[in-house]
Amino acid sequence: MHSKVVIIGSGPAGLTAALYAARANLEPLVIRGLQPGGLIATTSEVENYPGFVEGIGGFELADNMEKQAARFGARYMDAIVERVDLSQRPFRIFPDNGEEVTADALIIATGASPRKLGVPGEERLANRGVSYCATCDGFFFRGKRVVVVGGGNSALDEGLFLTRYVSELKIVHRRDALRADPILQERAFSNPKISFVWNSVVEEILGDDKVTGVRVRNLKTGEVSIIETDGVFPYIGHIPNTSLFKGQLELDENGYIVADHRTRTGIPGVFAAGDVVDHIYRQAITAAGEGCKAAMEATWFLSEQEHAAKKSAELAATPA
Ligand code: NAP
Repeated sequence: MHSKVVIIGSGPAGLTAALYAARANLEPLVIRGLQPGGLIATTSEVENYPGFVEGIGGFELADNMEKQAARFGARYMDAIVERVDLSQRPFRIFPDNGEEVTADALIIATGASPRKLGVPGEERLANRGVSYCATCDGFFFRGKRVVVVGGGNSALDEGLFLTRYVSELKIVHRRDALRADPILQERAFSNPKISFVWNSVVEEILGDDKVTGVRVRNLKTGEVSIIETDGVFPYIGHIPNTSLFKGQLELDENGYIVADHRTRTGIPGVFAAGDVVDHIYRQAITAAGEGCKAAMEATWFLSEQEHAAKKSAELAATPA
């Protein structure tokens, strides 16, 4: 299958790129990936995306973006890309459904994945009390006790969401000050279900076939204690999904794709947008803005290529 523009990833960056490329009549193909809708689709409430006075659910926002782009001709493939070959144009993309795709221009919007705690018990008890998505799994913790790890916006936002269901929520944070926005801090401090375990890290998640507790260490005193809990939600940041591009595109020391302010990577025709390049802002609105830029750049790139090809055909046809 050949497409003028292929977009890998379907978060706000990928879907906004799809909208703009579709409106430029490029019929982009979006390969949706492991998490259709991206991280925003797993976010309970989005209160800071302009245009929604009362906020909007993250899933609904992503779903709207997808439908909006489809209205103008964006196409979607449900697959995970296993390999890419960016050594020549058209670029080759190998999804796990076996259907090789080629593209004249590629927009990478693969986003970032939740960072794991990397402690014993985490992998074994995944989906047995360990969850990275409060929106998806909160309901299963009705009347139960949970621990949230982290002190950023995600930890507080999702922790506050979980208080709709749980009886008690402890936020374990490695420092004694939160990174989250003041408005979320105020809400968390005044929520009677939430308490904080400061200066502490989770060293192990306990339980045989389901979570029963976490072992935490106080970094100031060295004291080790056990918190009994039915669930653990780590919200300790993200790592960019760039392993596909290692050795083909320049990555920075943290694994983010290096792109210029016009979303151009080191390979002409390959653009990158959203959390896969951005380790500073990481907002749905900034990702969407970059997706828009990437699609406009791809459109200009393809026009230039077309123009150059036409010129050389004309030159070749001119009698000497
Ligand atoms: P983040 O802002 O990077 O916060 C990660 C938190 O986890 C920090 O408190 C950090 O501690 C802690 N942490 C990191 N590594 C750790 C480890 N190994 N062990 C224990 N704790 C660890 O990530 P985020 O909260 O996922 O947010 C990502 C981006 O999305 C941010 O830009 C955020 O503003 C945005 N976001 C916005 C909203 C909103 O506006 N409502 C909601 C969600 C997310 P330290 O503080 O000590 O570094």
